[in-house]
Amino acid sequence: MDSYGYAHICLIKAIGHPFARALRTPDRRTRQPVPAGVVCLGLAPWGVDLSGMASSAFLGLGPSALPGWGGYLLFGVVGILVLFLVGRMVLRRIMETIRQRKRSDMQLRISEDKFRKAFMTSPDSININRLSDGMFVSINHGFTQITGYTEEDVVGKTSLEIDIWTNLEDRKALADGLAQDGTVRNLEAQFRKKDGSLVQGLMSASLIDLHGVPHIISITRDISGRLQAQDDLVVALEKYRVLFESFPLGITISDVDGQIVEANLTSESLLGLGQAEHERRQIDGPEWKIVRTDGSPMPPEEFASVRALAENRRVDNVEMGIVKEDGTTWISVTAVPIPLEGYGIAITYGDITERIQAERAMADREKRFHQALLAAKGGAWEWNLVTGQVVWSDENYRVLGLDPQTMEGSYESWLGAIHPDDRAYAEAAVAQSIETKRDLKVEYRVVWPSGAVHWIHDAGSLVYDEEGEPVRMFGVHLDITERKLAELEVRQRADQLAALLESSQFLTSTLTLSTVLQTIANNAAAILKMETTAVYLIERKPAGDEPVGDEPAEHDSIYLGAATPSLPPSFPDSFRYGRLDEHPHIQQAISTRTAVIVPDVEEAELSAAEQTISDMRGLRTILYLPLLRGETVLGVLILGSVGAPQRFSAGDIDVCRTIANQAAISIQNARLLEQIQDQAAELERRVQLRTAQLERANMELEAFSYSVSHDLRAPLRAISGFSEIIARRHRADLNEEGQHYVDNVVMASKRMDQLINDLLGYSRLGRSSIRLRPIDLTDLLNEIRASVIDPLLADVHGVLTVADDLPRVQGDEGLLGRVFTNLLENAIKYHDRTRPLTIAVDAQRDGDHVVVTVQDNGIGIAPGLQGKIFTLFQRLHSEDAYPGTGIGLATVKKVVNLLNGSVWVESQPDQGSTFFVKLPRG
Ligand code: ADP
Repeated sequence: MDSYGYAHICLIKAIGHPFARALRTPDRRTRQPVPAGVVCLGLAPWGVDLSGMASSAFLGLGPSALPGWGGYLLFGVVGILVLFLVGRMVLRRIMETIRQRKRSDMQLRISEDKFRKAFMTSPDSININRLSDGMFVSINHGFTQITGYTEEDVVGKTSLEIDIWTNLEDRKALADGLAQDGTVRNLEAQFRKKDGSLVQGLMSASLIDLHGVPHIISITRDISGRLQAQDDLVVALEKYRVLFESFPLGITISDVDGQIVEANLTSESLLGLGQAEHERRQIDGPEWKIVRTDGSPMPPEEFASVRALAENRRVDNVEMGIVKEDGTTWISVTAVPIPLEGYGIAITYGDITERIQAERAMADREKRFHQALLAAKGGAWEWNLVTGQVVWSDENYRVLGLDPQTMEGSYESWLGAIHPDDRAYAEAAVAQSIETKRDLKVEYRVVWPSGAVHWIHDAGSLVYDEEGEPVRMFGVHLDITERKLAELEVRQRADQLAALLESSQFLTSTLTLSTVLQTIANNAAAILKMETTAVYLIERKPAGDEPVGDEPAEHDSIYLGAATPSLPPSFPDSFRYGRLDEHPHIQQAISTRTAVIVPDVEEAELSAAEQTISDMRGLRTILYLPLLRGETVLGVLILGSVGAPQRFSAGDIDVCRTIANQAAISIQNARLLEQIQDQAAELERRVQLRTAQLERANMELEAFSYSVSHDLRAPLRAISGFSEIIARRHRADLNEEGQHYVDNVVMASKRMDQLINDLLGYSRLGRSSIRLRPIDLTDLLNEIRASVIDPLLADVHGVLTVADDLPRVQGDEGLLGRVFTNLLENAIKYHDRTRPLTIAVDAQRDGDHVVVTVQDNGIGIAPGLQGKIFTLFQRLHSEDAYPGTGIGLATVKKVVNLLNGSVWVESQPDQGSTFFVKLPRG
């Protein structure tokens, strides 16, 4: 029996007595015997312990069986008699009993009162019905509350009349139960309320006897709510089951010993374990391979489940990895103790594999980024543009040359680290980046506390708020000093090479040795940014020279070719020229044929001569470069820095070598040119001498030929005069042979005369006799034709064509007349008798000259002989074939040359010749 049913029975038994009395005698003061069989037990639901009262009721059973007050009196008389008979002891006993009885009555009245109150106030429905017909005798307030029926509604009516039973089967069950056992417990039945609605009740009933009439007392509890709760519980359980199975988080439940007793589907799929496998495991079993987020093994005492069970408290969000064959599943575990008997903990866990992997990837990226930064000597920085707060990585301090112990990362400390010259534009670049919302990219120098200057490449990116305003900037500082220096070196090298090229072009066009040497000195200083330069040349001691005084037998001298800046007058001459062995560094550069460097004269051993020069020039670092041409050393180029020592990079040395090589070439070229010029001058001198000799000889020859010609004319005239007289007057006196001889003498003297005239004409040709002026060639040729040429043409039936509008030429009319007469006479003389003669004269302009052509179709001239015909006395034919003196074309050439022109011939034998006369335009 449950506590509820038990309480009902107690109540029914307990209230039987007072109600029986109430029904029988409403006046409580009326003394009535207490009905037998009424007992009271504890009313647990109301929390009242009635056991004591019940026992009192039992004790009251005896006296309650005695008759009324009359009986008491009789009993008293008898008692007196007994007292009298048995003594005072019995009487005392009776008195005691009476006192007890009084006490019991008092207690009973109290209990009655309590029962009445209980009846009236019970929330359960209590009703008393007559057994025979079920008529209601009494109901309590609980009845009205539950069914809606009041006492007036039901008392005097049967349950059937008010149709309170929904199901008459239930009524029958009640009746049967009472009939059989006299009592019914926990009968569940449905009742119809006054308003027609139904109510589920749990009913207990017992038979009671009222005035000898059996009644039923029923107590009914409204369990509609309880059923609803049961239904709700079923629904809740189902919901829980569905939720448990379909919940996206894995859930396992363990018992108090940590043995897993249940796992949902998510857990099965998440952990890759079936239900059976789950249930085989302890929460801290050795099968679990659990790792921390850093990958290290996680001991069970760190498990959320183990901790929650051990400490009996909720443990939230412990992240761990479950290592499986196909990889690690990452979960976040929360374990909560279950406050139920036998239960341990509920463990829930969500899959955070993606997040962990993303975090790991991010961490990996960050690590690699960090490593890359380290490799690139880079420092990371972050700048909150709103608060101005700046965060720097350790490396960033190092890159900027700042000490994290003494310096705090801030905009100002960044700015302070920058080279003063670069601050303005670095700041401007940052401001512009923020203003234009573009990534930052700027390069500047920072100065480390040691004074070392480092180049920084600063790259930054902006982070914006929802309104697109930049709120944060983060980036890196990369030390690009090496790259920058290399860049500078490249640029410097390019500048040097450009300067070198320019210098080489200049040197190529400059061939004077002194200029070459000075250019080398100047350019070397400029290109290598050295303050002083000097070029020394070697003067080899000619072999076989005898030593003078204490001079060593073998030595070479050096002399200064040029210096930058030029040497002051105070510079002793003895150092402009010197013996090579007095300059050991120069000697070393020459003998080794490699560059020699004195890094710092203050720490070097110099010869006396070297020391003096160094002191006078204020030198600190000296570089000696041999000027090599092949294997020959021409001299040494010396570069010196003044003040601070200078370092030379490999690139500098390369450039120096190039300069030195170029210098050597230029020096050699200049020397060669000097030699050539010397030789040319010598040649010129000789030519001039020879020309003078020739001119003198020529003049002598001309004078000789003139005087001979002149002197021969008188005797020739006598010979020809007398021979003509003989031929004319004494011809008849002579025999045939004599006549023949006389004819020959006459002819020879005529030829002789012609020859002498021609020769005299040729000899007289000179510049003094020329009168230059523009000559109209057409007019000139017409004149020649009319006077000389046309008759000759007529003899041979030749045709001469002269082009119209021949241009004017600059010349002397008489001399030009002789030129063209000569050429036309020759064309007629050397015509081919097998065909009619045609001659054409034409002219073409050629710049500021005119080329006149005289073309014939005569016998022509063999190619090998064409050069000879302009030479004096050169003839290609015998006197018999073609008479002539061989002076004509020589005269033509001499005249044309005197007129600043030229003459040549083109000819094909048997086809004809063309003579070209080129003269200045008139
Ligand atoms: P010559 O008194 O012999 O004509 P020239 O000096 O006038 O002397 O000419 C030299 C030689 O050039 C001639 O002997 C002749 O052989 C050759 N010559 C000159 N003019 C012509 C011509 N038009 N055709 C062929 N040969 C020519």
